[in-house]
Parts: sequence; C-alpha cells; structure tokens
Amino acid sequence: MTNLKIPRSVYVYGCAILLLALGLTSPSLKVAPRVSAQALATTAPTSSPTQENTAVTAPIVLPAVNWQDVSDYRQAMKPAFADDVQKFVDGNRYLIVATLTLDDQAATIHGAEHVRYTNHTADSLNSVVFRLYPNSPMLDGKMTVADVTANGESVQPGFSGQDSVMLIPLAKPVAPNDSVEMTMNFDLVMEVNVDVSYGRFGYKENVVSGTAWYPTLSVYDKGQGWWTSMPDPKGDPAYSESGLYDVRLTIPAKMPIVMTGKEISTTTNTDGSVTHRNVTGPVRDFAFMTSQRYTIDTEMVDGVEVRVVHYSDDNGNPPALDGTSSALQFVRNAFSTYDALFGEYPFAQFNVVENPTPSGVEYPGLIQVSEQAWQAGQSYLEIVISHETGHQWFYSLIGNNQVEHPWLDESLASYVEIVYTREVKHDPTITAAYVKRFTDRYQGYLRLGGADLALDLPVSSYSGVGYGAIVYSKGPLFYTLLEQRLGVQTVYKALNTYFHRYEYAVATSADVEKVFEEVSGQDLTTLFQQEVYETTSTATAAAP
Ligand SMILES: [Zn+2]
Repeated sequence: MTNLKIPRSVYVYGCAILLLALGLTSPSLKVAPRVSAQALATTAPTSSPTQENTAVTAPIVLPAVNWQDVSDYRQAMKPAFADDVQKFVDGNRYLIVATLTLDDQAATIHGAEHVRYTNHTADSLNSVVFRLYPNSPMLDGKMTVADVTANGESVQPGFSGQDSVMLIPLAKPVAPNDSVEMTMNFDLVMEVNVDVSYGRFGYKENVVSGTAWYPTLSVYDKGQGWWTSMPDPKGDPAYSESGLYDVRLTIPAKMPIVMTGKEISTTTNTDGSVTHRNVTGPVRDFAFMTSQRYTIDTEMVDGVEVRVVHYSDDNGNPPALDGTSSALQFVRNAFSTYDALFGEYPFAQFNVVENPTPSGVEYPGLIQVSEQAWQAGQSYLEIVISHETGHQWFYSLIGNNQVEHPWLDESLASYVEIVYTREVKHDPTITAAYVKRFTDRYQGYLRLGGADLALDLPVSSYSGVGYGAIVYSKGPLFYTLLEQRLGVQTVYKALNTYFHRYEYAVATSADVEKVFEEVSGQDLTTLFQQEVYETTSTATAAAP
C-alpha cells in the first residue's frame, strides 16, 4: 500500500471529498467486498433463506442493562450539560460488547449489541432497519450478523442493498412512543491496507479506523419510511439519530486508543488484552481509532478534554516537523470561536486523530486528520481542523441526511472555514482572499462548462468535480451572500438559533430557511429557491 501523493498546491480544501472533486483520487468501487481467508474459514454453512449473512463465531453473552439509569452517561458531558442525557433515556440506545483482533491479513471485530429503539414517529412500525455500512462497496469491508432477537424472540432478518440494509421484522408492531429491544451478534472483517473512502474506515498503515463498525439503526422518516438508500462514494455514508452508547471494546495490549465519549473503566484481562468501556452523551455515531503507532497528548480547552493523537516512532518520539502543537493551537482557535458564536460544545471530550486519510473526516467527538497535513507550518492542517471541528456543530450535534442532503453539513462546515479565518486572523484582506478561493473554484468549474446545480441535491446528483464545486464552494458562497444581504452578525445569530433549536436533532433545508427568515425578519423565499432548491443560480455566481 502506498499513500496518495498529493501536491502541496492542492491543500486547499477541508474534506477528503474535495480531493475527489479535483480528480486527484478516486474511491474504490468494487462490486463484491473482498473477504479474507480467515473470514471465509470461520463462516458457518449457510442456512439463512436470505443470503450468506450468517453466524461466524461464538455468540457473546451480553450483560444485563437498566435502560432507565443513565447516570453513567453524565460523565461524557461537561457538567453544565449533564442533564441533557436524561432527554435521551428513550433515544437510540446501544450496549455493545466487542473484541478487536489483528493479524497480517485483517482487523477483525467480533461483537454483540443490545439495542433499544423507541418509536418517535406517528406510525406504527412493523419492522426496524439497521445499516451494515461496511458492506456497501464504498467501505469494502465485510459485516455478518447472526442470532438476531426482537423483544426476546428469535427473528430472521432480511438483507438488501448488497447486504448494507438489514430489516428486522417485528411479530408485534411497535406503536408510537413504544420501544422494541433487539440483540444480535456481529462480525466485521477489515482487510489490511484496503484503500477506501478517504481512509475513513479500515486497517491501514497499522492504524485501525473503527468507524461504521457495528450494526447501526437507520432513520424512519415521516411519509418516506425507513431510510435504505445506498451511500455514494463521493460523500459521507451515514444518516442516523442521536442516542446513548455504552461500549466495552477489548483490544490487544499496548494499543493506545481513543473513542467517542468518555472512558469510565479500563480492565487488563488475563491474556493481556485490555477492555475499554466508554459511555457517551447524545451522539449519532460511535467511532474509535487505535494503533501502536499512536501517542496521545491531552489538554483542557474551554472545559473540554482534547486528546491529540499522533504518530511516533518506536522510542515514542514524534517525526520531524510533527504538527501536534500546531494542531492543538488550531483546536483552541476553533473551540473558542464556535463556542462563542454558535453555542457551546456540550461534550467532555474531543479527539483529534492523525490517520491515513488524504484530508479529514468527521465523527461525533472525533475527527480524523490527514497524516500528510500533520506538519508544523502546514496551512492545510489549519484548514482541515477548522472544517472538521466545525462539523461537530454541523453534522454531529445538528444532524442531517448526509446522503440525500449533503449541503446541510458540508456547505456550513466550509462556510465555517471562512468564519474561523475572519475571527482568528482578524485581517479582512486574509478573509477576502479566503472567500475568493471559493469563488475561483466555483467560477472555474462553470467556465469549464460544469452544470450550475442546486445546493440541495443528493450526493449522487453531482459529478465528482461538481460535488466539490457546488456543495463545497457555491455552498459557503451562499452563506457569504446571506452575510451581504443580512449582515454578518445576523448570519451568526441565525446559526446560533439554528444550533440551539436543532441540537441533537435532525434538520432539513426548510428548517435552515425558516431560522434565517425568523432571525432576519426577511422573506428569503426567492433567494433559497434560486440558490438552494433550483438548478439555476444567479446571485451566488455574481457574488464577489
Ligand atoms: Zn466536511
């Protein structure tokens, strides 16, 4: 495996996706996920009427759980926000017990989960849908599920979407405000050094990027049913709602690890492996990163324990030009800016993790940052951290369907780069130059004949270049257009209102428009129609 060699001159975007937009890399699109010899050897004979998604290893006995007691989860919050967990007693609830093992072929996770889903919709539901994201071609892993129960009874799930969609039928429908409990065993194989989806997932360069690693509840949308769309490799794969996680993950000895949430216990087992137990506040996904290459530096920033996770050599020394101290400074800048303008980050932890991504990827309480950017004096490091940290507000705390409406979080995270530049650099010339870079990218795309598409389209509607030019360049320019129309402070105030109204929830484009209209007192129907919903744009193209 080799790293992508990205010329320094293109270190200008805040997401790996933009490298794709520039045609500098392409996602791995294999029709059939590869399965290691190890996984094949342990796969039981197929007896399922649906497909081969069948028991692979011994089932795990899950501990008992008291869903009503959420006191442990308070530790994952800043003290002022600890009561927020109480609102999620009936949110998505996960108890996960899993073991990570590594060999020359693959990283393998054998786990079990007990999930409680409460029906917050108005419909009575006769099924619950989970997403097995690793089975989508864009992640190219292999996840199998077995021994599924619903309300204590064994059930046979159905699989579709290349086994990335698992439908659990319910013998008795779950009525509005009622809950259903499900248990299952699962196995995940991440073959070594498979290069997929910007390095967000898998086992590469001796780094385990543990994302999308457990069966994840999908979302039931009013009038549309359970979300089952296939993710597009240009964008982020997930759409999920907030909930509380209790995760007990066993990993090999001497593996520094960070995870979403707060570690509340560590146990060294007789075989030398270590079990880490983490609990979370209300989060919509749970990620971990672990590697023997990692060293973890910790500092309190605005009441948040920030863990900066970076490579070091066998003696524990960082490489030459290591960017750790710079990364920490950029995190300080970002937190002080976003906390003040948008609303306070409520969680007690935040992890900034160097990994083999060509730029950066966001998860709740954890961002992956390109090893190639991780150098002192590297301006791209600041861009990536400003953007991905911004996603904690726009994607993590305010959620959206990242596959169907990617502009909601990506255009805002890109606009946040401008906000960061303005509020940290305090130099209008630098800010104007930053905005001009977006303008140049967007205009350059149009000059080359690119279609001027609406902002609010599914990832799959755009070409690779178009996705970057529209969602990541026209998108932030749309917010600068709002600044020109309404004033910068009004835009900040609107985003603050948006944050407090939809924190932990899922927002839509109509929600964004409504908030901006309320806060500004102006009718923005025409502007949103032209820029966000329709495929013809005039104002943004003319903006400076
Ligand atoms: Zn992004």
